[in-house]
Amino acid sequence: MCGIIGIVGQQEVTPRLLEGLRRLEYRGYDSAGICTIHDDRLDRRRAPGKLDNLSRRLDADPLPGTIGIAHTRWATHGAPTEDNAHPHATREVALVHNGIIENFKSLREELATRGRVFESQTDSEVVAHLISEQVEAGVAPVAAVAASLKRLHGAFALAILFRQHPDLLIGARLGSPLVVGYGDGETYLGSDALALAPLTQRIAYLEEGDWVVITRDGTQIYDAQDRPVERPVTVSGVTGALIDKGNYRHFMLKEIYEQPIVVAQTLQSYLRPLEERVALPQMDFDLSSIERVSIVACGTAYYVAMIGKYWIERFSRVPVEVDFASEFRYRDPVLPPNTLGIVISQSGETADTLAALRHMKAAGVTTAGIINVPTSSMAREVDLLLPTHAGPEIGVASTKAFTCQLAVMAALAANIARDKGKLSAEEEREIVTHLREAPAAMNAALAHDEAIQAMAHTIAPARDVLYLGRGPDYPMALEGALKLKEISYIHAEGYASGEM
Ligand code: GLU
Repeated sequence: MCGIIGIVGQQEVTPRLLEGLRRLEYRGYDSAGICTIHDDRLDRRRAPGKLDNLSRRLDADPLPGTIGIAHTRWATHGAPTEDNAHPHATREVALVHNGIIENFKSLREELATRGRVFESQTDSEVVAHLISEQVEAGVAPVAAVAASLKRLHGAFALAILFRQHPDLLIGARLGSPLVVGYGDGETYLGSDALALAPLTQRIAYLEEGDWVVITRDGTQIYDAQDRPVERPVTVSGVTGALIDKGNYRHFMLKEIYEQPIVVAQTLQSYLRPLEERVALPQMDFDLSSIERVSIVACGTAYYVAMIGKYWIERFSRVPVEVDFASEFRYRDPVLPPNTLGIVISQSGETADTLAALRHMKAAGVTTAGIINVPTSSMAREVDLLLPTHAGPEIGVASTKAFTCQLAVMAALAANIARDKGKLSAEEEREIVTHLREAPAAMNAALAHDEAIQAMAHTIAPARDVLYLGRGPDYPMALEGALKLKEISYIHAEGYASGEM
């Protein structure tokens, strides 16, 4: 799932769209493109690879216009080529899409029987044709979009332009985030508030199933039943400075060094040091009645879940089950009454985890979420939000979000144990003391950076690396191996020590 920006502007949009795409680069991508409307036509520039390729193409062949959409793609359907890069367009309609259209195959076949010809292998292009077919038959854009959205299954954020309406931009979201930004005489669409930060901080978050019609005269949001709705405009608080690398060579390095501070900030809201107690936010259910815990997450957050299993079972003697969200949602999990369902996600938008959360809620399970983005879909849907205060994590490989999630997991484990009468005041005091010392211990670890750097040089020539651990250090070994793979492309594996 990658990045989207749209501008209904007063001035030339291409330079700002390109700048916006640069701010989304941190999410990773394989190709990019921009479309504007000028001289009565939809005009696109697209390029595989880095944004510099797109930028060079724009230098050679500039793209004028005061309305436009832009996209960084992370391919799910079709190779990362120019033809598959977004925006996808017909003569009448151009759009960018994040996510996956699960029923694209049947839609494509249906459209093909009516003579529609496709230029790409993507799932996204079918949406352009679906809408275009109606527009070409004389249906108004708003009605064409409303009808087409109802035919799509899967996850999407869309931004759509219409050749004959050079002041109209329509956005829609289901399962992938999309925000509306309100500027001075201009309106924006973005896949997150960060992308729009230099343009505006006045943001409305679209809810699941919402779609939005933006013109130069104003903006109207509709819900999934096509009823006009208001969504509150908040000031995002995300400024340009927040995503500055500072003096660090990489965002990931900066975020590694931020850990002691953000873990301390996170713990602040979970510890009452004076009383030497842990304390979760207000909730309207009773943790003492919990008889089972089911934790669901992906990737790094999954290893937090595994460590959580060791902690919760040890402190409170409640059985804990841990699942990859992608497995959980496609098997038929048993969720007995008095289960506490926990989801863990930095963004709060991880598609599989969000689907798993909805599955749990549909089964009547009480849910809690350890989440970094408080405005995210998951944050809004869980019964109990347990926020991490890691700040924006730009590095694709999670570091500070991981340690903040662990801090919250520790507080949660202690809290469940205390409420179930399994933790003495003395034991609770001990946990609080250890947690309070954690940021200082992290600082001490970071002070070994030179030794760590030397160690990295020793390991760098390796072809395979094994990480070993027992108990909670076993998931820690898995996380270490994941990190090394992601960052260095050296093959690595985490292993339970005893299995060696
Ligand atoms: N599924 C679409 C594609 O493969 C969109 C991918 C994305 O979210 O970037 O082109």
